[in-house]
This record gives sequence, C-alpha cells and structure tokens, in this order.
Amino acid sequence: MRKSRLLLLACCGALFIAGCTASGNETSKESSEPETEITKTIESTGTEATEPESETEPEVAESESETEEVTEPESEPETSSTETSPETAVTPPAATEIDPGIVRTDTTLYTYDMMAADLQVIAGRYPDHLTLGSAGTTEDGRELFTVGLGNPAASRSFLIVAATHGREYMTAQLVMKQIEFYAANYETGAYLNTPLRELFEQNYFLIMPMVNPDGVSVSELGEAGIRREDLRANLRVIFESDLAKGYTTNDYAYYLKRWKANANGVDLNRNFSPGWNTVSERSAPSSDFYKGTAPGSEKESQALMNVVNGMQHLQAVISYHSYGDLVYWQYGQAEPLWTANQVLAQHISNHAGHYLAGYSNEAGFTNWCIIEKGIRAVVVETGRVPTPLPLSEFPDLWQRHRYTYAMLATAVSTIN
Ligand SMILES: [Zn+2]
Repeated sequence: MRKSRLLLLACCGALFIAGCTASGNETSKESSEPETEITKTIESTGTEATEPESETEPEVAESESETEEVTEPESEPETSSTETSPETAVTPPAATEIDPGIVRTDTTLYTYDMMAADLQVIAGRYPDHLTLGSAGTTEDGRELFTVGLGNPAASRSFLIVAATHGREYMTAQLVMKQIEFYAANYETGAYLNTPLRELFEQNYFLIMPMVNPDGVSVSELGEAGIRREDLRANLRVIFESDLAKGYTTNDYAYYLKRWKANANGVDLNRNFSPGWNTVSERSAPSSDFYKGTAPGSEKESQALMNVVNGMQHLQAVISYHSYGDLVYWQYGQAEPLWTANQVLAQHISNHAGHYLAGYSNEAGFTNWCIIEKGIRAVVVETGRVPTPLPLSEFPDLWQRHRYTYAMLATAVSTIN
C-alpha cells in the first residue's frame, strides 16, 4: 500500500502558492528558556527537498516508541551563536511581511512558558483573528491552552492537537508557528488563489498546541520541569520501576528526556476507551505505554473529550505526533466513515508528503473520535528521525505543514 518515497517527494511542496517572506524581526521573551538568542530561521524552511533513505520504517502505530534501548547520549539541543539581546523590543511587521517572527524556531526547547508568552503576544497583535482559551489544567497546574482561529459560527470546524506525547514537543512548536502564520496572513494571504480571509470566514479551527505540557516539561527540562514536589519525586519512582522491569537501560536524565507520558506516568494516547481493555504493554506508571486506571482517567484526556464534545460541525481531527512520516487513519470504523477518513488521510498524504499508514494503536484519542463520536480523525506522524526531533527537522515539518489548515479548508468535503 505504501507509495514510493520518490513519488512522495515529488508531491511535497507542489501546492504552495502563497509565499512566505520571513522577516528578521526579533521579539522579547519572558520565558525562563535558557538558550539565548532569538533569530528567525523560517526563511530557510522552504527549501527542504532531500530525505535520507536510512530512517527506520515504523511497523506499528506510534513509530517513535520502539527505541527505548538507545543508550548513547543524544546531542544537546542546538543553540544559536548569534548575538541578539533577549530584551529586544517586539517590532511590528511591515505591511509586506507575512512572518512576524514571534514563535522561535531556532531552538528545539520550545517550552510551555515560551508558548504561554507567545500566545499572549500573538493574541495581542492579532486580536481580531484568534481567541485564546483553556480546556483545563494539568496535574502540575499548567493550562491546556486552546486557540480559536477563523469564524466560530462557521458551518465547518476542525480540531488540531499536538504534543500529546512529551518528547514530541516539536509538534507544539509547529502548531504555534502555524497559528502565528495564519494570524499574520489572515488579511492578505492566499492559498491556491483563495484569500485566507475567505477560508477563515467559512471555517473554524480550534487548536490545542500542547496537550501534554507536563510531559513536555519533563522531556525538555528533566525533573526540574515538574513543580509539584510529590509529582517530581514520583518521576524517580517510575524510573526505578521501569529500570527494575527492564523497560529502560538508560540513565535517569536520558530516561526523562525520552519521556512520553503525562506527570502521572500515563500515556495519554493509551487512555481512551476504544480498545483500552486490550492494552497491556505496561501495568504501572511508566515513561510511556501505561494506559492509566481507566479510560479518560487523566485530566488531559478529559479535556480533549470535552473539547470535541463542545465543538459544532466538526469535520475532522488532526493529531500531530512524531515520528515516522506517516498518517494513521484506520481503526476498524464502518462505512461511510472508513472511506471518509481514508480520503482525509489521502489529502494530508498528498499535501504533506507523508506515507499513508494503516491501523493506529489501541486506546488512542483519534480512535475515540472515530468510534465514539463518528468524526474523521487522523494521527500525523511528523519527523524522520527518533524523538526528540533535532532542530534540523523543523524546516521539514514547516515545509510540509505550513498550509495544512488552508488545504483542509479547501480540499476536505463537508460531512454532517
Ligand atoms: Zn506520539
């Protein structure tokens, strides 16, 4: 069923019409992010063309998940050597600039704090184009931010979520950049000759850029990423448990870097009802694969379900994960949803150059959308190398997915 890589590469980028002339704007950051400089790199993101042949092809859903044995320390996240003062004031973009450069793309460590600050800046700059909200809070007290983009009263809506798994945090960075990009180009941008303003008048996008901010914080910042003392102490307990059972051979720091679960050690993409009873990969809290004590036991899972239940005219759900360069769309759904979801996945495959894969894992969020809600839903596995993705992967993610919302609004037919 798989298409050839050469064919996919030929598809990649062919649909991009509206150009992106990135600005060099600098912006101030209030986050505690240790890296220094704020340097725009989006201008380099439109040229990705080649792809290594040596990547590991995933066999099952959650393709990033089988690499626990990796023991060599990974290289530290890249930091720019460019000297730029973090205190540089925000400079509004000139009228012709379509990338104002708020969301940093010069670091892989795009943190929850950076995201929270960026959301305020973006919402302040484009108050007419997006709406900030929250779907709840996590165990460690972080907000589950939502962003509404487009017309809330539109007859079609889409849900985009990212960073369900901690170490897949580059997907949050991607989605934040998408939000910034569409907000900045709302008035003057176009996709395939259709003004973006028109697309956003006819469609509504609700975006949850970081479903698992606690897990992201563990993966990015280690134990220090967790604020609650009891949760922080429990990370060590979970590590010892996984070590004793042979689920990891890594040292504690590297183990945390590869963390996927939430702060409770529950894998949020194993915490939904379809197939939950059959999930048996782990029997106790772990860095990944533990399904929790019951379907929907976790705050983040509840928030996702509440968001879906609260949406009107929901056409499709896109859940960004990493890695594998794949789109998962099957979960044994009956017709007409089988074909409808296949068509959705094919659109994304054609647009972003990802393989069309098959079955996704049991108890995942998109399975719940499909089975329990009858909504089209796919997992998009971005990235071509094991997570956490290196900075060198961001241009590829951006090239493939900058226009995905516009494509969805344009190409995906309405279902009721
Ligand atoms: Zn994932």
